[in-house]
Amino acid sequence: MATITLENLAHSYLAQPAGEADYALKQLDHVWSDGEAYALLGPSGCGKSTLLNIISGLLVPSQGRILFDDRDVTRADTVARNIAQVFQFPVVYDTMTVRENLAFPLKNRGHKANYIAARVSQIARMIGMEEVLDRRARRLTADAKQKISLGRGMVREDVNAILFDEPLTVIDPHMKWELRTQLKALHQEFGHTMIYVTHDQTEALTFADKVVVMFDGRVVQIGTPDELFERPAHTFVGYFIGSPGMNLFDAEIAGATARIGETSIALDAAYPASGGKVQLGIRPEFCRLGNDGNGLPVRIERVEDVGRHVIVRAQSQAGPLNIIAHEGLRPGPDDTHVVFEPGRINVYVDDWRISPQEENAVPAGGV
Ligand code: ADP
Ligand code: MG
Repeated sequence: MATITLENLAHSYLAQPAGEADYALKQLDHVWSDGEAYALLGPSGCGKSTLLNIISGLLVPSQGRILFDDRDVTRADTVARNIAQVFQFPVVYDTMTVRENLAFPLKNRGHKANYIAARVSQIARMIGMEEVLDRRARRLTADAKQKISLGRGMVREDVNAILFDEPLTVIDPHMKWELRTQLKALHQEFGHTMIYVTHDQTEALTFADKVVVMFDGRVVQIGTPDELFERPAHTFVGYFIGSPGMNLFDAEIAGATARIGETSIALDAAYPASGGKVQLGIRPEFCRLGNDGNGLPVRIERVEDVGRHVIVRAQSQAGPLNIIAHEGLRPGPDDTHVVFEPGRINVYVDDWRISPQEENAVPAGGV
């Protein structure tokens, strides 16, 4: 296994990129730690597959270098990089049996028959295909074929990393959870470096130790699920992660007080003055409804019961907002205001989170 370093990396599919907009992947420096489980999360078209294919060697970046430990592999192919990759759609040998498909990467590497047999049965158990090992792949459903692809990706123990590109797309929803759990178990058992691409936050947050969030060709934040929830570095992360996502309000700030329209909001620290578009970000979890006249005036439009809590959809002079109310704090008709927990408010300037003055006012997470 190896530490993977991306140095000054960028990629444009155009031969003569004219400006930043022509880059599918904007300039990026990042070290993927050996043995860690990462998720690469972002909406369709944001550059996830481009980045993954550059790491695996399917694509040569138009700028920068890739190192595996100290070795420059920028121009080395996938085989030379010793990487396993699983794609969105199944890649299996139709004429081979399930067993032969799973054994193929090991046979190729000249492993001994008894090792292959043991490893194949272990993987078959993980993907729930022990019963069909002797069936030909051709006769199987897309779902089953994709499980074979996943198994093939995981069968070798000696790879530098395993890369998954939205591998559960064609998998039945209830099997998704099962397979994700298996992948996580596999990571815990063998400690491979894994990079798992998805546009689904639940998949990303349950699979990974570290989530790399991409937006518009850029890595906007790398963090643990908790960090992404508590301190989204970019408004996109606030909006994309969470259900519903973070509320955002245009605001003005003077020291430790913010104003949203006519309403003064107490912050837990003073923020530096800045030009640019200032916004407050507050998650629905940290908004409290009340009727004592404190906070931002709101009008409740709808209450959705989602089981453990309710989601309150409301309107304010500064735009729509969502509030999560817990058992015992059910919204009532006289709830006219919403109060924000001061310690849970994030401040954004031109979409990037800024730190309070005490922390030297360095922009957090700027890439
Ligand atoms: P994701 O995997 O996040 O959906 P991609 O990496 O596939 O995103 O695509 C990023 C951007 O690059 C998109 O705008 C896409 O249209 C463009 N793109 C992807 N592959 C190619 C290609 N082979 N040639 C030209 N443009 C491409
Ligand atoms: Mg993709």
